[in-house]
Amino acid sequence: MDHFQYKAEELYCEDVPVRLVAEKVGTPCYIYSLATLRHHFLTFDSAFAKARHLTCYSVKANSNIAILKLFGSMGGGVDIVSGGELYRALKANIPSERIVYSGVGKTVEEIDFALREKILMFNIESTQELEQINRRAEAMNTTASVSLRVNPDIDPNTHPYISTGMKKNKFGISTDSALQAFEDAKNLKHINLVGLDCHIGSQLTEVTPFVDALKRLRSLVETLRLRGADISYLDLGGGLGIVYDQEAPPQPHEYARALLQELGDIDCTLIFEPGRVIVGNAGILVTRVLYTKRTKAKNFVITDGAMNDLIRPSLYGSFHGVQPVARNLKETETVDIVGPICESGDFLARDRDLPLSTQGDYLAVMSAGAYGFTMSSNYNSRPRAPEVLVSGDKYFVIRKRETWEDLVRPESIPDFLGGN
Ligand SMILES: *Cc1c(COP(=O)(O)O)cnc(C)c1O
Repeated sequence: MDHFQYKAEELYCEDVPVRLVAEKVGTPCYIYSLATLRHHFLTFDSAFAKARHLTCYSVKANSNIAILKLFGSMGGGVDIVSGGELYRALKANIPSERIVYSGVGKTVEEIDFALREKILMFNIESTQELEQINRRAEAMNTTASVSLRVNPDIDPNTHPYISTGMKKNKFGISTDSALQAFEDAKNLKHINLVGLDCHIGSQLTEVTPFVDALKRLRSLVETLRLRGADISYLDLGGGLGIVYDQEAPPQPHEYARALLQELGDIDCTLIFEPGRVIVGNAGILVTRVLYTKRTKAKNFVITDGAMNDLIRPSLYGSFHGVQPVARNLKETETVDIVGPICESGDFLARDRDLPLSTQGDYLAVMSAGAYGFTMSSNYNSRPRAPEVLVSGDKYFVIRKRETWEDLVRPESIPDFLGGN
């Protein structure tokens, strides 16, 4: 459920007309609904109410500090994948004991930062990383709590770029090597192995791969406990899918029921790292029609939003619904919605039936709350779009539009070329 609905023929975000925000802050812009964010977080978190658990929202899906602050205030923690995300989480006052740190390539600088801040745990992805964290913890005279991220070799049936738990993926440690990693960890004085972790992919639309992964993890927990390990955390990652088009992903309560049933009475605190399922359908990208162009092969609607604002269609061939902000009863035509960027891969949607667009019309690209702004770039020297948070009949700019000055601020011209 989300709060983007037509009232009369106008698209609203909660009680604010989308057109109003577009006129005030300009386009392209991201708009998020606070009520939807809240509702999605609560729905997910309360699905696991019966179990001891911590919902660690995956920062990379949407890392605006206002949104992190919201989830923190609702009792959530975060899953981070870089020092920059840790910095954001701390800015948003997320308590460090609710922060878990994933990722295959943590640098010394990032490890030190996380140790200093005493995060809950590192999800480690290789034995070299384990040794590196041990060395840094020793240097800082502390102990690092870690979970082993296991690669359970499960096909999540999703796009290859976002499947992460198969043998051929770079993530985690194979179930075979996990026992050895545990033995290694035992000999490392500054490592405290407290849990197991997995994250098998994103935008999963069935529960079976989650359950299969959990089966492997559970048997590993049992094996490790027999060998004396004190496994008190089981982190099941994120990955639950959402409806972009015709998908029928499990609801959070169905996902929870299947997992809790499979878990039985395993005595662990559960950690979840949902990203997309919380923020995906809580945001839209609003864009304006600059030109329309008819060719023999195609009809193009050229918008001021582009692949640098929302790269998912170009990168993964993802589907995003596109809706007119002002609905009309004009006849429809089949169009490609494309941006101004000098790449033929710059499209937001292809072969869509849309009411005839005219210059100046606003279009809403739906389901853009996850991996939208966070994957945006300055390609073609386009300032990144602003982010707006709507609550009831009010809206708040939670990130300003970048300026042309922002684009060149970190750059400099050496003296021999004349200096700045
Ligand atoms: C990206 C990621 C997530 C979140 O995935 P979603 O599909 O957005 O839920 C969780 N955990 C890890 C380790 C990730 O890399």
